[in-house]
Amino acid sequence: MPKSTELAIIGAGPGGYAAAFRAADLGKKVSLIDKDIALGGVCLNRGCIPSKALLHIAKTMSEVNHLSDKGVEYGEPNIDIQKLKAWKQDVVTQLGSGIEQMAAARKVDIISGKAEFISEQELKITPVKGKAELLSFENAIIATGSSSIMPPLFTKKGQNVMSSRDALDLKEIPESVLVVGGGYIGLELGTVYAAMGSKVSIVEMLGTLLPGADKDLVAPLKKSLKISFEDIFIKTEVTGIRKNKSGALTVNMKSGDTEFRKSFSHVLVAVGRAPNTNFLGLKKAGVIVGEDGFIQTNAYCKTSAKHIFAIGDVAGQPMLAHKATHEGKVAAEVIAGEPAVFEPRAIPAVIFTDPEIAWAGLTETEAKEKGIKYKTGVFPWTASGRAIAVGKPEGKTKILFDPETKTVLGAGIVGSNAGELISEIVLAIEMGADAEDLALSIHPHPTFSETTANAAEMFLGTITDLYAPKNR
Ligand code: FAD
Repeated sequence: MPKSTELAIIGAGPGGYAAAFRAADLGKKVSLIDKDIALGGVCLNRGCIPSKALLHIAKTMSEVNHLSDKGVEYGEPNIDIQKLKAWKQDVVTQLGSGIEQMAAARKVDIISGKAEFISEQELKITPVKGKAELLSFENAIIATGSSSIMPPLFTKKGQNVMSSRDALDLKEIPESVLVVGGGYIGLELGTVYAAMGSKVSIVEMLGTLLPGADKDLVAPLKKSLKISFEDIFIKTEVTGIRKNKSGALTVNMKSGDTEFRKSFSHVLVAVGRAPNTNFLGLKKAGVIVGEDGFIQTNAYCKTSAKHIFAIGDVAGQPMLAHKATHEGKVAAEVIAGEPAVFEPRAIPAVIFTDPEIAWAGLTETEAKEKGIKYKTGVFPWTASGRAIAVGKPEGKTKILFDPETKTVLGAGIVGSNAGELISEIVLAIEMGADAEDLALSIHPHPTFSETTANAAEMFLGTITDLYAPKNR
């Protein structure tokens, strides 16, 4: 007799474990299956958390460096890579054991093994060691996440060609790194390695770093990266890579008609991620994968098979942990018969570089492309007391408003703690707040969060922290 469960969840990342815990809290018998021994998925084990732990070190080091022009001198940093690695691992382990305890408290059945559908109602689960088991289910949630794309050009070139996972393993501090891909993962990991002392260069095929972000938000970051990175190659393609006898990697690049080559001790490939839909037996379960490679779902997170749901990276953009978690909760609630739907007005995106970039809701780029009418309120951080006091005046807070109703449509922030500040905007969008709601809510002084109210005041023409005649 195969084992049976009410709800089988494949993948214990931020989508899968959130779904498991919510469903268990709603009274469901849940089995949570993962092929990794550690729970938490990519985000906890080789994504969000280890990268942010290392970025915290990078940021602290950069702040210390900036103290010298304010009269405080520290010596050269001495990095003990083994200790740093152990600390990063402690952070991951602490959070991972928290997930294990929460699963046990809710009596979620954790199954270690690789799952695939063998029918619409049954999974085969193959553990690393031992015999495969069958598990029959009433409902299933696919939360298998995504994996780094490694184009054939970069494969079999030795261990000095790294994926984001290898880069986070911190085996050594490379002498020089070429980061291939100017998206957020490449920029964040490049920032970590530059802080550790590696000479970091970046190459991006498209015309800008962070292609999805508004250009004016990327500009201050680019300025800062020009100082911390060796080279930034834009509109440049990697056409070849060869390992030399010395172990170094010679990379051929092409920008327009110009071809050139450069050598690096390491290459980090961060060209994107692909949803994990292979080897899952999806056809046998009647689950359709769209042309974009993601599993097709509706607003209830249901796939083409009405009792099977898909959430997180495997179910579409944006491939972000908080989107996975929210979808996971919706799927669990729908399965438990609750009135839930995934219809967010805004999903925030944060790039944890120095300065940080964050946005939510409508971007200016998107508004222009779609011909959506908007007006901006922009507050430069050169006028923020807090930003000047902490030596971070390079930011800006930009809010997009509906010109008629004055409601908040979206916002983009660049600067220190932008990732924290964007949450107020998400709430404003979800609540249908307008410029006056933001401007008249008293923000504490002196804080970065004041710049949100200031941006609304710029739009309304009520600003007193700046002299802005055009707003009068
Ligand atoms: P995942 O976290 O990918 O988990 C999927 C799980 O499914 C894995 O544990 C896998 O082992 C398991 N699995 C897959 N196939 C099977 C199978 N057949 N059988 C059993 N188990 C299976 N997002 C953010 O929001 N903020 C960040 O700061 C951030 N930083 C990132 C940094 C890096 C370097 C990377 C790589 C990603 C980052 N992300 C970040 C993205 C984030 O990690 C993902 O969006 C998130 O992990 C997706 O969650 P998920 O639950 O969909 O899947």
